[in-house]
Amino acid sequence: MGEFSTMITPIQVAAPHSRRSRQVCIGWGAGAVTVGGGAPVRIQSMTNTDTVDAVGTAIQVKALAQAGSELVRITVNTPEAAAAVPYIREQLDRMGQYVPLVGDFHYNGHKLLADFPDCAQALAKYRINPGNVGKGDKHDLQFGQMIDVAMKWGRPVRIGVNWGSLDQELLASLMDVNSQRSTPWTDRQVMYEALVVSALDSAMRAEKMGMSADQIILSCKVSGVQDLISVYRELARRSDYALHLGLTEAGMGTKGTVASAAALSILLQEGIGDTIRVSLTPQPGESRTQEVVVASEILQSLGLRNFVPSVTACPGCGRTTSTTFQELAKQIDDYLRAQMPIWRIQYPGVEDLKVAIMGCIVNGPGESKHADIGISLPGTGESPAAPVFIDGEKAMTLRGENIANDFQKVVEGYVERRFGLSV
Ligand code: SF4
Repeated sequence: MGEFSTMITPIQVAAPHSRRSRQVCIGWGAGAVTVGGGAPVRIQSMTNTDTVDAVGTAIQVKALAQAGSELVRITVNTPEAAAAVPYIREQLDRMGQYVPLVGDFHYNGHKLLADFPDCAQALAKYRINPGNVGKGDKHDLQFGQMIDVAMKWGRPVRIGVNWGSLDQELLASLMDVNSQRSTPWTDRQVMYEALVVSALDSAMRAEKMGMSADQIILSCKVSGVQDLISVYRELARRSDYALHLGLTEAGMGTKGTVASAAALSILLQEGIGDTIRVSLTPQPGESRTQEVVVASEILQSLGLRNFVPSVTACPGCGRTTSTTFQELAKQIDDYLRAQMPIWRIQYPGVEDLKVAIMGCIVNGPGESKHADIGISLPGTGESPAAPVFIDGEKAMTLRGENIANDFQKVVEGYVERRFGLSV
């Protein structure tokens, strides 16, 4: 073992940077949410229901909001969808769900917002894609019409560029400029530039029309992790607008989850990103709320926010030949998540709770002591007893067939004692 020196400096504790961005207020009353300017990084999501189905859409918005989505975007693509928006808002208000609704517009947004003022009013923010607002002369005109409506109703906008619908005229002009360079940039670099310029030029155009920079959020979404990191670093370097961050078309299941976590974590650690969306393709039968679960896990893993109590569980190994500890870990994790809509109100601060579920005595007692409440299950060949640690001290030993339910009761009691409101 190396000799310990008193001369070495302590290892610095890693922490996310913070970027100075403008603050945008979205929504009103009980549903108002601030994005950027030091506010917590917000989670948002998007429905995949037909917006014309006002009841079905309101139910999905409610589920997403209950899962932790602080803004929910809905597609507004037809007159029928635009006409349904006020009813969706009404249904949600009736259910006590005041989450702000964001309208996602492409191609005909200028017309829908003008023809359906109740829709324009019911939405808390408009998403405008500068690549899909019209070509040639119509581009600036139709973009301007959407900004006019936003200013009329006092609504912020997200200028959301996507490489799948990048403004082709802008890209072509940047390609021309590039061909004149003595050392031309790569096509990829020109594409990055086109994404950033499309967002920044559109924002500048909106500001010239009179919109406040505090009502503008930018995004430049791409589907490659390294591409996203490159583009957002540049976007953050060139502006102080609040940024909506997300990997577009991230994919399904593990691939989509890992790719989103990889890209978003690097940027969030650098202080880039004021609101995030995880664009997961749901697996057959999977709830749309999974994208909100992943987004909250990313923020919680980085130590940026806590949403649900965390469960530390060991991976298991040859010392755990039964599935007991996997089942217990799942049961407790499911239980904690299911309780959160009520616990959030009843037990303020409960989201900071740390629970450990370990498979044997190798790391079990140590890890359990680091948690607020932990259990170390018996590994193969160990005596059938499960010591429980509370606040670092061994509090009891559970035995028998009902260890899972008994431990759940211990957790319940602990939460009530520690987080219960004293009256
Ligand atoms: S705590 Fe025990 S069961 Fe879990 S991984 Fe470590 S050695 Fe294996």
